[in-house]
Amino acid sequence: MKAIRRFTVRPVLPEPLRPLSDLARNLRWSWHAETRELFQSLDPEGWQKAGGDPVRLLGAVPAARLGDLAQDRRFLRRLTAAADDLDDYLRGSRWYQTQDAAGAELPAAIAYFSPEFGITAALPQYSGGLGILAGDHLKAASDLGAPLIGVGLLYRHGYFRQSLSRDGWQQEHYPVLDPNELPVSLLREEDGTPSRVSLALPGGRSLRAHIWQARVGRVPLLLLDSDVEDNDPGERDVTDRLYGGGSEHRLLQEMLLGIGGVRAVRTYCRLTGHAAPEVFHTNEGHAGFLGLERIRELSGEGLDFDSALEAVRAGTVFTTHTPVPAGIDRFDRELVAHHFGDDGELPGVDVERILQLGMETYPGGEPNLFNMAVMGLRLAQRANGVSTLHGAVSREMFAGLWPGFDPAEVPITSVTNGVHAPTWVAPEVFRLGARQIGAGRAEDALSVGGSQRWDAVADIADGEIWDVRRVLREQLVYEVRDRLRASWRQRGAGSAELGWIDGVLDPDVLTIGFARRVPSYKRLTLMLRDKDRLMDLLLHPTRPVQIVVAGKAHPADDGGKRLVRELVRFADDPRVRHRIVFLPDYGMAMAQKLYPGCDVWLNNPLRPLEACGTSGMKAALNGCLNLSVMDGWWDEWFGPDYGWAIPTADAVGTDEDRRDDLEAHALYELIEQRVAPRFYDRGDSDLPERWIEMVRQTLASLGPKLLAGRMVREYVERLYAPAARAHRALDPDTARELAGWKARLRGAWPRVAVDHVEALAATAVNGTAELGSTLALRVRVALDGLQPEDVEVQAVAGRVDSADHITDGQTFPLKPAGGPDLEGRWLYEGPLALDRTGPFGYTVRILPAHPLLATSADLGLVAVPSEETGEAAGVLMR
Ligand SMILES: *Cc1c(COP(=O)(O)O)cnc(C)c1O
Repeated sequence: MKAIRRFTVRPVLPEPLRPLSDLARNLRWSWHAETRELFQSLDPEGWQKAGGDPVRLLGAVPAARLGDLAQDRRFLRRLTAAADDLDDYLRGSRWYQTQDAAGAELPAAIAYFSPEFGITAALPQYSGGLGILAGDHLKAASDLGAPLIGVGLLYRHGYFRQSLSRDGWQQEHYPVLDPNELPVSLLREEDGTPSRVSLALPGGRSLRAHIWQARVGRVPLLLLDSDVEDNDPGERDVTDRLYGGGSEHRLLQEMLLGIGGVRAVRTYCRLTGHAAPEVFHTNEGHAGFLGLERIRELSGEGLDFDSALEAVRAGTVFTTHTPVPAGIDRFDRELVAHHFGDDGELPGVDVERILQLGMETYPGGEPNLFNMAVMGLRLAQRANGVSTLHGAVSREMFAGLWPGFDPAEVPITSVTNGVHAPTWVAPEVFRLGARQIGAGRAEDALSVGGSQRWDAVADIADGEIWDVRRVLREQLVYEVRDRLRASWRQRGAGSAELGWIDGVLDPDVLTIGFARRVPSYKRLTLMLRDKDRLMDLLLHPTRPVQIVVAGKAHPADDGGKRLVRELVRFADDPRVRHRIVFLPDYGMAMAQKLYPGCDVWLNNPLRPLEACGTSGMKAALNGCLNLSVMDGWWDEWFGPDYGWAIPTADAVGTDEDRRDDLEAHALYELIEQRVAPRFYDRGDSDLPERWIEMVRQTLASLGPKLLAGRMVREYVERLYAPAARAHRALDPDTARELAGWKARLRGAWPRVAVDHVEALAATAVNGTAELGSTLALRVRVALDGLQPEDVEVQAVAGRVDSADHITDGQTFPLKPAGGPDLEGRWLYEGPLALDRTGPFGYTVRILPAHPLLATSADLGLVAVPSEETGEAAGVLMR
């Protein structure tokens, strides 16, 4: 029978057990093993059934059991200890407070927006790496005491759950998530009514949303939910699922996230007295509309669009996460135009100006599309990619937005991702460290970092490390069998057919893991390139390997689903099914077992499309070695002690098919010749000593770099603190002045020019010069009414390639030495040291200069000598 209405009956906890409710509602339990153990001891079986979710557990524990526990002195003592520990965690002064007290002038609050958050499997609001990174960011911020407010959407179906059909085709399910059964609570006004935000839609419609809050340690996470009764059915569905629906659906989600999100933050601050954010951070472009809402807020305070834009940019940070075009949101211009302006949201903000912000004004750009990443870059004075390599790739990719600048100068920096170790390090591994240095210091080492503490790993005995690795591998074997059995039942098999599953995987065989989403660039099936070869590796008589694979394809991606099916069919083959498995429904709960249980983590994307990749980091923190293409973080921190680099066949002109062949071949070779021999190379003590040494190095030397604590500290120091200072500097008057100055510069710029360049005391005879000599440059520039303080005139010098392009240029500021002459030209001078041998060249350029610009590329304006000026002056020397 189908119920006509559902509601949730909340458990009433006996008074002495009340603290359980706080412990369950603060998601810190998800990275605090002791709190989880406390919940588990309430009802071990119920804990299993509740999927390790305290809120569900409390809803299911029989009242009689609760009554007993309320009398159980030992339990109550543990409960008090856990509650006190949480209290200390929430109140104590931490890294951020220490920095701030030392005069770092850190922001009073930072709002962090993301379309998905992966905090725990119990709050399934993520699809993959982007969301889990956002979750790790909040958790690390909490550990460090950084005052973040997370902002996202609450999707009624989350992302989909994956299962398989009999023949291996991905099936998608969308279970309904009832917020009343999730670890969230409604934000309410003082009178108890639920707080609401409301957006105006075209045709007089409204999009309303409630605000749910989750507590992530010290950090509140606000999640907007459009499933409220006074919305029309269409609007109720706006937050139905993550990354589902067509273009208009996506646009509405992103308007709610960006615009509604700012309103939710304002509401939250009003109700709780939380400090207002000085910095807004948008995790990928989806939340970019937050900048427009803040422009609207300032317009209401009397600022014109350009001045408001300056004020908003100063305090905005934008992180780009992908060089894959399909990962970037682009909307039809018309669609965006239709939703903004006087008939839609942001009345009073000129629609044309909005549209310009998202325009792809570079060669190859689509004039009719509105690009969220491009808008993100224009609305943020500070932007970054997520690994050193990805920073460089992003600068190339977006260089067209800064014409006249070399990609190296494009103002996009990078902060390499990290992962939240307390979430991802298995308790067994944690205890290895805790035995050396004590639990408290081990906890600090994982959350805050500090490499001395990690050095203690060096003293752990080989046998101890290997025992733990074996235990973890064995746990994974049992987990895999359980999941595989469940999957086969779902695929329609009866128990009688499934006896073979008890023999799947072997706790003593080298175990390789590969799990991630299935976009084509990640190449799920590269390992199947030569199936016979792979079979030989799996079935090797003395050095076999076993492989665990998992991953979801996007529901609209049939190509990805074909890859899944190909993998499943291979793994179904009775000849190999005990050595390779595909586990459906990859998610955080599976990941937490998978990373620690594997010996080797495989990653074979098409370089350089993996912006960072974080699963390999989580694996490494558990002593798993990486086997990866040199992409993302691995390109930066690879070391021969940490694993193996799969060589890349990315020479220009190699077609993709051939490239896959070459790289797959290299992968097989590595496994056969290097990885497996080392794993099975047992010394006198029957231990693989060289392998264990690699595990030890991975933990001790690589480990501390991989922490989300390290990442968040970098964001604070390199991006949030400067953004907060810039934000404070831009009060309304200053914002107006800066906007006015920019307008003046843009107006004058077409007539700003380098007129004449000469090198006095030039020792460049016949095009050669001596190392150590100095050129005195004299340059005449036309500034068209601008003053010397408005610009910087620079010499740029360095090695030149065969096309006379300066490759590793250094800049030398030149000083004004007179002017203006009768034609309004200024003289600039300065020395240029010839401090390196070989082909060398220099040029001169003029850039805008203002103390409030984050970089001189900020306006995208630069003036360089015309061809004639350059040649007449003999600018280049060979
Ligand atoms: C870490 C993680 C990811 C991201 O993995 P990548 O290597 O960055 O692709 C995806 N899904 C889950 C469940 C994860 O834990």
